[in-house]
Amino acid sequence: MEERILIVEDELQLARLMELELDHEGYAVKVSHNGREALGLLQEEEFDLVLLDIMLPEMDGVEVCRRLREFSDIPVIMVTARDAVPEKVEALDTGADDYITKPFAIEELLARIRALLRRKNNALKEDNNVLTIADLVIDKDKYEVKRAGQEVELTKKEFDLLVYLAENKGIVLTREDILSNIWGYDYLGETNIVDVYIRYLRSKIDDPFAKKLIKTVRGVGYVMRDDQE
Ligand code: CA
Repeated sequence: MEERILIVEDELQLARLMELELDHEGYAVKVSHNGREALGLLQEEEFDLVLLDIMLPEMDGVEVCRRLREFSDIPVIMVTARDAVPEKVEALDTGADDYITKPFAIEELLARIRALLRRKNNALKEDNNVLTIADLVIDKDKYEVKRAGQEVELTKKEFDLLVYLAENKGIVLTREDILSNIWGYDYLGETNIVDVYIRYLRSKIDDPFAKKLIKTVRGVGYVMRDDQE
């Protein structure tokens, strides 16, 4: 999907130049020449990154950034007119992620945009490796499970089973589904192994807590569900 960038710049020629370059790089670009208007756009539309000039009509870039941070953590690159250190410090203090000084080489701007978008995408990926159901938190990267803030020790199989149930939250899984996914299609051991492991898992993540997350669906299998949802 195309990443959307908002350029906020009141120098029309520079704004146009940046728009053309970013468009050429394959970004979806929108331009605003006014700080107040830009803030409105940021409230109404989804963007992936903002290039924010500091000296702007109606509302300066520092103020736009400050207000933006009240509702969004979108990456912001401040564009400063000159090499003014206090201005840069102020920009970063209000929550900008980076800044660039005019005049700049377009290649440098593009490199900074790529770096920030990469960081943002990595952060999103991390989030996908953390599963949350009610007060149960499963961190797939760290092999860590917490219930109500307390760490729960699980064996590898119990962990795999829990992740499988959590990733299929709200979906009833048959014993066969669970068996083939966790133990493999060629598993030839005890057929009640699923029930045994569900029991182990319950003893660790459900029994000590009031709210039960693993439900038995009689005659079918198991489902993980937060009944409050
Ligand atoms: Ca300006």
